[in-house]
Amino acid sequence: MRATTIHAPGDIRVTEVPDPVLKRPTDAIVRVTAGCVCGSDLWPYRGENPIKAGATIGHECIGVVEEIGDEVTTVRPGDFVVVPFCHCDNTCAHCRAGMQSACVNLGITSSGQAELARVNQADGSLVALPEAPPEDLVASVLTLADVMPTGWHAAVSAGVAPGSTAVVVGDGAVGLCGVLAAVTMGAEKVIAMSRHASRQEVATAFGATHVVAERGADGIAAVREITDGVGADAVLECVGTNDAMTTAIEVARPGGGVGFVGVPHGVELPVGTLFSRNVGLRGGMAPVRRYLPELLDLVLERRIDPGRVFDLTLPLEQAAEGYRAMDERRAIKVLLRP
Ligand SMILES: [Zn+2]
Repeated sequence: MRATTIHAPGDIRVTEVPDPVLKRPTDAIVRVTAGCVCGSDLWPYRGENPIKAGATIGHECIGVVEEIGDEVTTVRPGDFVVVPFCHCDNTCAHCRAGMQSACVNLGITSSGQAELARVNQADGSLVALPEAPPEDLVASVLTLADVMPTGWHAAVSAGVAPGSTAVVVGDGAVGLCGVLAAVTMGAEKVIAMSRHASRQEVATAFGATHVVAERGADGIAAVREITDGVGADAVLECVGTNDAMTTAIEVARPGGGVGFVGVPHGVELPVGTLFSRNVGLRGGMAPVRRYLPELLDLVLERRIDPGRVFDLTLPLEQAAEGYRAMDERRAIKVLLRP
């Protein structure tokens, strides 16, 4: 099959690789109809994470079930499915507690930017649509593989409630989905921290009531002013850097919560500040399968349109250009069509 592969920092190619095959009776193979580039794919692209030269890359996709293992009962070949980037059995103790991203049978999509992807634990992971989505919903359905449930998880972890004030730190696709999540959950004030005009526009379209372009101490002061000096009830940290975490903790009100979903790189927690202001902190890898049925309904009923985070669509063969566009911030998020 044709698949996106990474060979060195900055070196993305689309090459011929062996088709994935069923390895276990609980596996399924999905023919990818749409995949995309994740912000976390940029870590190895920038040389910040180790690379296995020639490995396939990409963990977000949707498509049609091609083949199933002997023990798979809930999906059939021909079903149109969302593939959560983290695969789970949805039956173990952690899954039953709503933490499917810590499943004892956890798997991760490894060829989402390709023609075919293997899914471990197909029964527990895949969610089928009644039929293939209409073309204008493809982008929004694709966000359900990772980026939208991750933004949703930030809002859940931060404790967003109806009538609350939420701040979103980070204007990447996850942060923008976090804005949409906070608005959908009924937050009254949603403050998006964003410096980029194109991203501010999406945040506002998603329902952000305020945009703060300043960063660091100025950004913190601006949020404090909007919240009458109180700070925010819930803060969504969607970047993963120390600066972003510092800002998130500083803009939370005493007793408020910070939900973090940015993969931490060099973050050091100010435990003294958390203590003195009673700020709660939780988050981590999103249990995508937990939120998927609810979010799929919202998308199919056209009540949310997270697909707006995609501002560039390319044929799979141009994956390298997709990575460049995201790396250079010319694109918020890139959709790839095999
Ligand atoms: Zn499990």
